[in-house]
Amino acid sequence: MVHFVGAGPGAADLITLRGARLLREADVVIYAGSLVNPELLHGCRPGCALHDSARLTLDEVIALMERAEAAGKTTVRLHTGDPSLYGAIREQMDALSARGVAFDVTPGVSSLFGAAAALEAEFTLPGVSQSLIVTRLAGRTAVPEGEKLSRLAGHGASMAVFLSAGMLEGVRAELLEGGCAADTPAAIVYKATWPEEKVVRCTVGTLAEAGAAAGVSRTALVLVGGFLDAPYENSRLYDPTFSTGYREAKT
Ligand code: SAH
Repeated sequence: MVHFVGAGPGAADLITLRGARLLREADVVIYAGSLVNPELLHGCRPGCALHDSARLTLDEVIALMERAEAAGKTTVRLHTGDPSLYGAIREQMDALSARGVAFDVTPGVSSLFGAAAALEAEFTLPGVSQSLIVTRLAGRTAVPEGEKLSRLAGHGASMAVFLSAGMLEGVRAELLEGGCAADTPAAIVYKATWPEEKVVRCTVGTLAEAGAAAGVSRTALVLVGGFLDAPYENSRLYDPTFSTGYREAKT
């Protein structure tokens, strides 16, 4: 059996209880070494075989899984954050299905939530935004035309931009081109939840300078939107004059 497990954003105690158990029980662990906190591997069994996938191709990863499976071993494939976001798990799951290898998926805390926690922010603020756009700037990996950052920028929604901290000029240019005002609040969160976490608050117009001044060019998220710094309304959920399925309005 192969278990895909979300490692969480960085801090070793932000993996789920299930993920931690699977990791403790694994015979083979294939981890995304560029971003997974090595502390997470300290709890692995003494004989556990550890492989850093940063050095491997898809075929090599699948071959390791197949070999473990043939030997009746349990494999954990440890991905950073939640594996469903930029995790390249679909291709692995399809390759395993084609070979008749059973697998399951354990979710993880995405770095986008680690970043929100670091910022003490709420993405879905009443009166500001009720939507979150999770995206990236086109780089060596293309982005479908309709999802270009400039096409998404005009919504005014909260945005979490992955994999783009090394292209902050480009992020700014596309946001401005798409109609985002230069004074729209923005933030760069480097290594959210790691001890070396850095939080840089700026605006869309100053993104590139702020990133350069902080020396951040990788392992960071760019957050954009009024949710970072705009007047908002309190939620209806806890409004005393508002009835919910669980509570009558106080008159
Ligand atoms: N599946 C992961 C994302 C993997 S893609 C998740 O759910 O978080 C890798 C990108 O994620 C990085 O380029 C960066 O943009 C972001 N990232 C991953 N860990 C991060 C962290 N601790 N802090 C800030 N950004 C992070």
